[in-house]
Amino acid sequence: MPVSYTNVLEGTMLRHESPTVDHILTHLCSKGLYGDVAEWCEMRNDCVFVVTCPDCGEMFTLDEDEYDALVRISHEEPRACGILPLV
Ligand SMILES: [Zn+2]
Repeated sequence: MPVSYTNVLEGTMLRHESPTVDHILTHLCSKGLYGDVAEWCEMRNDCVFVVTCPDCGEMFTLDEDEYDALVRISHEEPRACGILPLV
């Protein structure tokens, strides 16, 4: 099977942070805010993280990998925005 453009694109994106993570950080940091984080689990123990912007109420859904990346980036360098990890 030939390598499709989609496969190439996905391979490239793996080396970078998820666009979702970038999007959330950009949104929150443009206002200097911390998002509210909630963990939502479904019956079959599928959990997602939901980050809510305290300013406009926009909600962002993250899977566990994206959440981990967002926490890591939020704390990689001192900044007054992003998210705080759930205790
Ligand atoms: Zn907002």
